[in-house]
Amino acid sequence: MRVLILGGTADAMALGERLAEQAGIAVTLSLAGRTQQPRAATFPMRIGGFGGLEGLKAWLTDNPTDCVIDATHPFAALISRNAAAACAELEVPLLALHRPQWLKEAGDDWRVVANMNEAAASLGETSRRVFLTIGRQEVAVFAAAPQHRYLVRSIEPIDGALPVPHVTFMLARGPFDEEAELALLRQHEVEIVVAKNSGGLATYGKIAAARRLGIPVVMVSRPKAPEGPSVTNVDEAIAWVGSHRPPP
Ligand code: NAP
Repeated sequence: MRVLILGGTADAMALGERLAEQAGIAVTLSLAGRTQQPRAATFPMRIGGFGGLEGLKAWLTDNPTDCVIDATHPFAALISRNAAAACAELEVPLLALHRPQWLKEAGDDWRVVANMNEAAASLGETSRRVFLTIGRQEVAVFAAAPQHRYLVRSIEPIDGALPVPHVTFMLARGPFDEEAELALLRQHEVEIVVAKNSGGLATYGKIAAARRLGIPVVMVSRPKAPEGPSVTNVDEAIAWVGSHRPPP
């Protein structure tokens, strides 16, 4: 059985490792190639875009695949849309694996927004100390709000991505625990956090820390996912793959 996992998340890697241990399953993990040194896998990986919907369809035609698991980050909307369209057209079963989103808890002060432009606008006119933990792709949007002082954390260097008078870039790779996040927020006197509603525990520390300090969080909602079967953890994804094994 040939399984294509669209990755870019820890769950995609974990799923690949678990499936690759099973007899009779050939897994390929596909990464976009954004991270310069992705973790080494014990099974085949392919790296780089497919070349849009047509490219993905061509790949699936050249590499006959019994099922596809979209384990991309919930904010990676384009690849998810292309996967849904390609799989529908080629009649390849597709499952989405996305962690449940975070839900607001008592004590949270969240300002929920639909996208990064709204997030930047929601910071207001008065200068504030802002912690941006949104990855690197959309950081430039905050150039529209240059009055704030930004602390920007990313995995890969993005110096120069935010041309505003007051910005500090820091490099770090999660997981980030709550106590360390609390210390960071205090050290930089952060007044407001901007985060994507990624879900999962690895990056939840900043949300819990903000709650403890009474700091507001601008929470960017997930883009709408394509219709279709979906699960929220690796075990459920493995069970779904098992149910799609072709007869011997
Ligand atoms: P996107 O906007 O949905 O995709 C942009 C393009 O990147 C796609 O059209 C595709 O190129 C290529 N691509 C994305 N995921 C791919 C994959 N798994 N394998 C091969 N090509 C892929 O995605 P994005 O937001 O740029 O995210 C890129 C990658 O980073 C994804 O793998 C995602 O899981 C990971 N990631 C994203 C975020 C986030 O916040 N967006 C956070 C953490 C990790 P072609 O059209 O040429 O096929």
